[in-house]
Amino acid sequence: MIFLDAAATTPVRREVLDAMWPYLTGEFGNPSSHHSLGEAAARALADARASVAAVLGCRAGEVTFTSGGTEADNLAVKGIALARQAADPALTRVVISAVEHPAVEESARYLERFHGFTVDVLPVDSTGQVTPEALAGLLRPETALVSVMYANNEVGTVQPVARLAALAREYGVPFHTDAVQAGGWLPLDTKALGVDAMSISGHKLGAPKGCGLLFVRGRTRLEPVIHGGGQERGRRSGTENVAGAVGLATALTLAQSRQRDQEVRVTVLRDTFISAVLSAVPGAVLTGHPTERLPSVASFCFPGTSGESVLLELERQGVVCSSGSACAAGSDAPSPVLTALGISAEVAQTAVRFSFDASVTTEDLDAAARAVSTAVASVRTLGAG
Ligand code: PLP
Repeated sequence: MIFLDAAATTPVRREVLDAMWPYLTGEFGNPSSHHSLGEAAARALADARASVAAVLGCRAGEVTFTSGGTEADNLAVKGIALARQAADPALTRVVISAVEHPAVEESARYLERFHGFTVDVLPVDSTGQVTPEALAGLLRPETALVSVMYANNEVGTVQPVARLAALAREYGVPFHTDAVQAGGWLPLDTKALGVDAMSISGHKLGAPKGCGLLFVRGRTRLEPVIHGGGQERGRRSGTENVAGAVGLATALTLAQSRQRDQEVRVTVLRDTFISAVLSAVPGAVLTGHPTERLPSVASFCFPGTSGESVLLELERQGVVCSSGSACAAGSDAPSPVLTALGISAEVAQTAVRFSFDASVTTEDLDAAARAVSTAVASVRTLGAG
């Protein structure tokens, strides 16, 4: 099997499992316990936080471990907007881009439904990018938060996060970015990016599902979303997932230590794959930005097919990929991300996403490109028949 669905999830790396193992077995303490087992767990958690902080260029106290990317996004969007509104009731608006993951989009809609916020949606161009000019047009004195993802999970488009964050800062508005897909592929230095909050998920990086983190800068106000015993400095209650935090820190450190090499190597493979598919499949269209895109994502529409049928045909040929984001899979509605790029609902139904992890090879992608050509031709023939 050639697994080209790494944007959905990745297997746990051996080094990550090894690092986690003690905290799932002998060192199983609760970090809040005042005995040696608890203290060992608390130390492991502190070390994991320090490792993450070193990667993100922040202080350990600015890192909150969560149950994944979805929770980190919820905590950022709801937590910052509600805390700021509590301090200043005039803050009643949030800005999000038109291509956010549902974890951000639905958190903003929750604020609209239950807390009287207005959600201002930042449009994207046909490549999926937002512009600083468009953001400037939406920033108002009532804006509590801006949330724009670092890189899109369906089409891989990378946003000009540093420029957008700098602009939000000029207006005194905190800027959150969902960096779940960027981890391992793009620089994550929070100072260089200038972001006030950033979400990361473990299972996209070789850590297990169910662990993630939110970076929140210094004095940014944050209302917790999960209430209870006050763990994570009151920002996220619940007994900490010590092994998960250790696994996430290990995976993030490994991934970011090779980030630049991986970015360069896989970008070349991605572009060769894109060219091979575009030349082998008549009518194929690349979706997303031609160059400002994740090294790991090649996404297409194949007009005259259905994405789901191409997917099934590819799987029969040993290539596993996705017809859109895993979260939207199974839904008949056209992807809101693709329609935001101006792609018609009909063409959006023909979308297929190929996403790679760092172990991808030229041979895998050559074989995959041949399989795509055969699969699309066969689906078109069946459709015509
Ligand atoms: N944000 C983006 C951009 C994603 O791609 C995903 C997962 O696909 C998430 C958030 C959610 O992360 P998790 O699966 O860890 O909840």
